[in-house]
Parts: sequence; C-alpha cells; structure tokens
Amino acid sequence: MKIWFRCPHCKHELNFEDLSQDAAPCPVCTKMIPLRISDRTRRENVVEHCLICDCPQVYVQKDFNRTVGVSIFIAGAILFLICAWFNRLIEGTLVWAVFTVADALLYKFLPNVTICYKCQAQYRDFSENPNNTAFELGLAEKYDPLDKNAGAENPAAEWNSGR
Ligand SMILES: [Zn+2]
Ligand SMILES: [Zn+2]
Repeated sequence: MKIWFRCPHCKHELNFEDLSQDAAPCPVCTKMIPLRISDRTRRENVVEHCLICDCPQVYVQKDFNRTVGVSIFIAGAILFLICAWFNRLIEGTLVWAVFTVADALLYKFLPNVTICYKCQAQYRDFSENPNNTAFELGLAEKYDPLDKNAGAENPAAEWNSGR
C-alpha cells in the first residue's frame, strides 16, 4: 500500500509505504506522526479507516488524471470538427466513436484510489474493501473540517462554497 498525505504538523506532502510501524517521524519537520494501522490492514492490505487522522470513513474513486481525460476529449472533438468541416461526417463519427471507446476502456482499467474525507490522505495499491464506497457529499460535510484549505482538492469544496 502506498500512502500520500500531508504531515499533520508542517503540512508537507509525504509518501509512505512501510506499514510495519506505529509511528514515523516526518522527514521534513522530524515530529512524530502516529499511524493508526490495524492488524487487518497489515494482514490484508485493505484500508479500513484513515491511518493518518483516524477518520472512520474513506471513499474510493478512479485514480484518473482529469487533465488527461479532458485532453483526450478535446482531441476527439477537434478531429471530429475537422472531419465535419470537410464534410466527412461518417469518418468524423467513426473518429468520435473510437475516442469514446478508448476513453471508456481507459477508465475501466484505471486503478482505484482511496481518499480520506477529512485529511484527503490518498491510498494506492491496496486490496479492495467492499465497505468503502464512492464519494458522498453528506459524509464529506460531516467529516470535512471548516478548514477550507484542506478541502481545495475535494470535489465537495466547490459545492459548499455557495453557502
Ligand atoms: Zn512535518
Ligand atoms: Zn484522514
């Protein structure tokens, strides 16, 4: 399991893989970071709760780079428009279909990433835990602290800002 998170003390971005310890010093500020790793997590490589902040709920989503996804979409759209410009609508539709299928396949085979609602720690290379489900706004509001900076990468942050 690979863990990406921010140090609770100095907020530096850190990567962590060694699940054998119960605490590890931050390589930047050298303060100890407690790790709440359960036996099951060590044994089965599943995420049960956040190991960094002990938040009981985490969510799962595709580890999808949005920039890449949007780039593929735009490339397909531009090719389609070029074909349409030259009255090649059949070719254009085929190009569009190929891009749509490629996009769907790419998405299907992408690995999942588990993310903590509270501290946004990200877990990769884990075994699936059926208890962890997709992002739910209600849970995000429950666990996301009032700290708006922490929610910058949280999709719920945009929806919350209107209130
Ligand atoms: Zn630190
Ligand atoms: Zn957390």
